[in-house]
Amino acid sequence: MAARTALIVGCGLAGSLLARLLAQAGWRVTVTERRGDPRESGYQGGRSINLALSARGRWGLAAAGLEERTLAQDAIAMRGRMMHSKNSELTFQPYSADLADAIFSVSRGGLNLSLLHAAAEDSKFGGGVEFIFNAACTDINLDERLAYFKSSSNARSWHQTADLIIGADGAFSPVRMAMQRTDRFEFSQSYLGHGYKELRIPHAHDPRLRTRAVRPAAWGDYSMDPNSLHIWPRGGSMMIALPNRDGSFTCTLFWPFAAEQHSFASLTSEKAIAAFFEAEYPDAAALMPDLTNDYIRNPVGSLITVKCGPWYYGDGCVVLGDAAHAIVPFYGQGMNAAFEDCRILAECLANHADQGEALRAFYELRKPNADAIAQMALDNFTEMRDLVGDPEFLYQKKIEQTLHRLYPDELVPQYNLVSFSTTPYATALRRGQELTLLYQRVIALVPRHLLKEIGQEEWVARVRIAAESRAPAGQPPAAQISVKTDAMPRLDELTVAYDISPLLNASTGVWKGDTPLHRRLLSELAKGDSVTLSTLESTVHLGSHADGPNHYVVGGADIAQMPLTHYVGRCQVVSCKVARGARATLADLDGGLESLVCSRILLRTGTFPDHQAWNDDFAALSPSLIEALADRGVITIGIDTPSVDLMSSKDLPAHAAFARRRVAIIEGLTLDAAPDGEYFLSALPLKLDGFDASPIRAVLMK
Ligand SMILES: Cc1cc2nc3c(=O)[nH]c(=O)nc-3n(C[C@H](O)[C@H](O)[C@H](O)COP(=O)(O)OP(=O)(O)OC[C@H]3O[C@@H](n4cnc5c(N)ncnc54)[C@H](O)[C@@H]3O)c2cc1C
Repeated sequence: MAARTALIVGCGLAGSLLARLLAQAGWRVTVTERRGDPRESGYQGGRSINLALSARGRWGLAAAGLEERTLAQDAIAMRGRMMHSKNSELTFQPYSADLADAIFSVSRGGLNLSLLHAAAEDSKFGGGVEFIFNAACTDINLDERLAYFKSSSNARSWHQTADLIIGADGAFSPVRMAMQRTDRFEFSQSYLGHGYKELRIPHAHDPRLRTRAVRPAAWGDYSMDPNSLHIWPRGGSMMIALPNRDGSFTCTLFWPFAAEQHSFASLTSEKAIAAFFEAEYPDAAALMPDLTNDYIRNPVGSLITVKCGPWYYGDGCVVLGDAAHAIVPFYGQGMNAAFEDCRILAECLANHADQGEALRAFYELRKPNADAIAQMALDNFTEMRDLVGDPEFLYQKKIEQTLHRLYPDELVPQYNLVSFSTTPYATALRRGQELTLLYQRVIALVPRHLLKEIGQEEWVARVRIAAESRAPAGQPPAAQISVKTDAMPRLDELTVAYDISPLLNASTGVWKGDTPLHRRLLSELAKGDSVTLSTLESTVHLGSHADGPNHYVVGGADIAQMPLTHYVGRCQVVSCKVARGARATLADLDGGLESLVCSRILLRTGTFPDHQAWNDDFAALSPSLIEALADRGVITIGIDTPSVDLMSSKDLPAHAAFARRRVAIIEGLTLDAAPDGEYFLSALPLKLDGFDASPIRAVLMK
């Protein structure tokens, strides 16, 4: 069958990542870009110089095999906000109770170039990517799937067709504009009264720097802590700074366009600029030898929120990234959301034979989440500009972090859900609203002044009591809140992405000596009986199944007694490069221990490919791997082989490790189609009283 063709308009961040993902999936991809080729002419983007990359962006990059490369080549970790007061006092607010959590400053141009190079590599995957630069899309004929172009380097015009036209062409997308002319297309845009302008702090060794204060050695070539996102909140206005890899920082002013004071319109003369910065941002001004030049020369950009729908037209055209949902940058999520879009669109196209269905599924999955992050980004603007310096707000943050530390799984703050997980944005928004109510209740019971009066230890104890005050006895405070954060998304936001159970019939393989499936028909409609009625005889260790501990420990719980949380909830599929007949160790896990973020892990060994043709030499798990996963908080391990021990094993050391660490076992999954990544697992065993296992119907949802 001939490869499907995709025409991506826009070779920005989303366009270049999607090109690689589709090429990997075997599409023939053409990417057109109105600007010149950055590989020849350097990056000419008109937007921010650096961006914050977080979990969702990394998840999108990981699908294209580019996460590690990006982190190694382009990124600087930022572990919290460093607030700068007007008298240059610094306050550090970690982003998370877990200091390993970080967001990453990446160069927009550097990342775009890396993605472009990566997409150009892709002919090796069978698909191919053709780039056409200086090609400005002028219009789309949606019914004919025709895109019209005009060269920006000569007068040439042409048109081009494809099986799928994708608008990755930014907030002012011409592809979306063609959709806007169709019946019942919803569209709204709104500008913020604030704009942005970029300034620069050079590296610490720049000879023009006025103050050469002693810097901590850990700062290296930087004049400020490079592992923080710096904020100068000034109530109604603010400046932020993100580190670059050359020791410099890019600062961005977010100021009103027009106001009497502290606005772009109010500050125009060189003298006034210098004096104003000395007064308002003194520590930064001392590090900006080019301040007045940069301020006068650099443009003021506008900040827009775009909402529209549907994001697709029939089965031939779709928009994503800023073209579908431009948002203001105050949660640092525009690019991250765009990368998440790319991965989910590629998955929808792979999972639905009907292209129109794939586009609809993509839109339905993403639209509520795009609306949610648009709202959170606006809310975060108020927080960053007005609240981060406010003592009451800082007290609320302290309660937030304390409760997160006390209940790491239940009370995950909204910021962490947005930036350090791929929990749907809509869930994060709702959860944040619920948590704010909880924090307010705790503050009412444990007001700020008490902290000084009773000391830290007693204060933490009171916070805990306050948080639990309305919770049912013995349960953490999350129990009183409707959505549990271990990314318990609303089920109506999920669809089944992969069925990971094998077909069960008389030829489904079972362990030597065990009972294969047998169906006895007691009556049959076809024979004139009033119903068809079957009796099933089979081992309970059939196909995909969950083991009860009484299968391998004397006196262990039976399958009906197992807590259901082992089988329903967030899970992660992880590839395990282990040879047939061997036991997998930690070293075999793709991505290593660090990449594991869920408490249910499903391991793909690929060593038992066919349940209808049993092979004895499947792989198993080493006890040390089970111990390491249990140490990381894993409660369930699933595997795509009939057992977690080798076929030849008599002493069953893996089963013993599961018993020791009280981790649940799922065996016999079929994981060949499900790509590595995070899902929502549903794999409930039957409530078979006293039984040592139960078959399960396991599915992965998204
Ligand atoms: C000041 C600022 C700070 C930001 N900070 C962050 C951050 O920290 N973290 C984060 O995640 N996001 C951030 N963002 C948002 C982020 O920049 C965008 O969400 C992201 O760039 C969207 O990617 P995209 O590929 O959809 O669009 P774009 O990056 O805008 O790419 C669109 C591409 O389409 C091309 N194009 C446009 N029109 C045509 C045409 N007619 N024909 C052909 N090609 C065309 C453009 O030249 C461009 O290359 C920030 C944005 C701003 C403005």
